[in-house]
Amino acid sequence: MATVNSARADDSVETVIIGAGVVGLACAAVFARRGQRVLVLEKHGRVGDETSSRNSGVIHAGLYYPQGALKTTLCVRGRELLYARAARQGIPHRKLGKLIVAVDAAESSTLEALAARARENGAGALRMLESAELHALEPRVRASAALLSPESGIIDAHALVQAYLAEAKGHGATLALRTTVEGLEPVGERLRVVARTANAEPDAIVAERVINAAGLGAFDIARLAGLASSRLGVAQHLCKGDYWKLTPRLRGVVSHLLYPLPVRAGLGVHLTLDLDGSLRAGPDTEYVSAARYDIDETKRVAFAEAVRRYLPELRDDDLTPDFAGIRPKLHGPETTFHDFVIADAAQHGVPGLYNLLGIESPGLTASEAIAEHVAGLAGV
Ligand SMILES: Cc1cc2nc3c(=O)[nH]c(=O)nc-3n(C[C@H](O)[C@H](O)[C@H](O)COP(=O)(O)OP(=O)(O)OC[C@H]3O[C@@H](n4cnc5c(N)ncnc54)[C@H](O)[C@@H]3O)c2cc1C
Repeated sequence: MATVNSARADDSVETVIIGAGVVGLACAAVFARRGQRVLVLEKHGRVGDETSSRNSGVIHAGLYYPQGALKTTLCVRGRELLYARAARQGIPHRKLGKLIVAVDAAESSTLEALAARARENGAGALRMLESAELHALEPRVRASAALLSPESGIIDAHALVQAYLAEAKGHGATLALRTTVEGLEPVGERLRVVARTANAEPDAIVAERVINAAGLGAFDIARLAGLASSRLGVAQHLCKGDYWKLTPRLRGVVSHLLYPLPVRAGLGVHLTLDLDGSLRAGPDTEYVSAARYDIDETKRVAFAEAVRRYLPELRDDDLTPDFAGIRPKLHGPETTFHDFVIADAAQHGVPGLYNLLGIESPGLTASEAIAEHVAGLAGV
């Protein structure tokens, strides 16, 4: 671990960040910008290689979650920061708007309730559309009503990750790739981080604070510091979401992000557009015992049926397997919501440790707001 080896353990690094996903790197950018000496440790050979590159790439407006929840406030703030950053730094993005559709009268009342919540949440401009208005916007979609969120959009997540990394490095942060954190122990008010690179002996560094932004591995990191799930009061549930590509035949069939009403564990199988205009359906929700990224071909019919509810012309053979992502949820299939947990010593008792747990959607949208929130907790 060259970076840790070369660092003088007592004074060269104030903040160690575990995980170079979009959230860890947003933290690196914000902490480094605010004058902190930052070291980011990432087990893979490149940044943003896990959940940050396995998602819908949607900039969420902040429609769905309860008022006052971190998922809501950080999404709304994060969305504003994200559009500003994307415009400033030329990160590819499009504010193309999103439609949540109700396919029948029974769903329309649920949609009204969602619209009311979204307004309370500060999700930006919103408009309820009757079927004729929807038809004018999206002639090939079938629904009885829709909620239009013009503030929703898409962003190149890879470019965003690179932008955070460049900003962090520009302010002096260091990134150590292929470096897996294997130990974390309190040393007085500070923390000793033990990490290992491939083929190397473990090495250690002492930091004033450690930000645990390890995504799917965040509970493992917490455990290294003696914080089992029982002490944290939350547990991680892995919830896989698969995506299917739509055939080029259907290119241009919709021009907005198209969502059904949310389901228990997710937002429902939706249609998203890539920046190049190609369409993708997904993700579904499947609780799994271990992370895996295969696409089960037998799900094709279920996906096609889910999309046909609002896009009747879709045929089963219009879908081909694309990719999967894993949500680090803090609730299982029997409940519908758990907020992000962003916890410091006041909650868990380990000085200097900031645990970021359950950073599922809208974590990409909220990334910089999450970083600001952690910086606020740390007094940076
Ligand atoms: C299917 C799906 C769809 C989604 N869609 C959206 C969306 O449209 N919009 C949105 O806003 N959000 C979305 N999200 C959520 C968003 O993708 C995540 O919230 C975000 O990517 C989380 O970033 P992260 O940095 O916390 O985690 P990650 O990207 O997983 O990064 C964590 C990093 O920590 C590293 N790590 C782990 N353990 C160790 C260790 N011991 N030592 C060193 N490094 C370690 C990992 O290698 C990894 O690189 C979606 C998520 C999923 C799964």
